[in-house]
Amino acid sequence: MEAAEKNDEAYMRLALAEAEAAAGEGEVPIGAVVVCDGRVVARAHNRRETDADPSAHAEFSAMVAAARELGRWRLTGCTVYVTLEPCLMCAGLMVNARVDRCVYGASDPKGGAVGTLFDVSCDPRLNHEFAVTPGVLADESAELLRSFFRARRARRYSTREPA
Ligand SMILES: [Zn+2]
Repeated sequence: MEAAEKNDEAYMRLALAEAEAAAGEGEVPIGAVVVCDGRVVARAHNRRETDADPSAHAEFSAMVAAARELGRWRLTGCTVYVTLEPCLMCAGLMVNARVDRCVYGASDPKGGAVGTLFDVSCDPRLNHEFAVTPGVLADESAELLRSFFRARRARRYSTREPA
């Protein structure tokens, strides 16, 4: 395995740990980290329910935190690792933040905007393009999501815990 691929997996493991933290809070398990020049500058997980905030997606929060940490809105030199393919909002922020690269785990057939439903990473009409590496630890990322929804359905239909 190439060194770069090994690094991608290592950083994706950190994003997966964030996703697990989200599940522990009853949030859909999606996690993200931002890496700049080999340093993790931000990590975050989905907090949409907790914060009652439609923008509280893992990678969106991680990019905002990274900008704060670096003291600049341009995330040039940064790679965003996220366990699920970014949506339009998050991919849009990647364009606006001028990120170098996005590495994601599972593809999202219902919202993926860097290759699945849309691809805003390389649209010549936009003023920035970024590299995308899909499918890193995709099975682990997808399994976290599947088991979260399985458990939630089981709870919903359980007689002990009526909804
Ligand atoms: Zn998003």
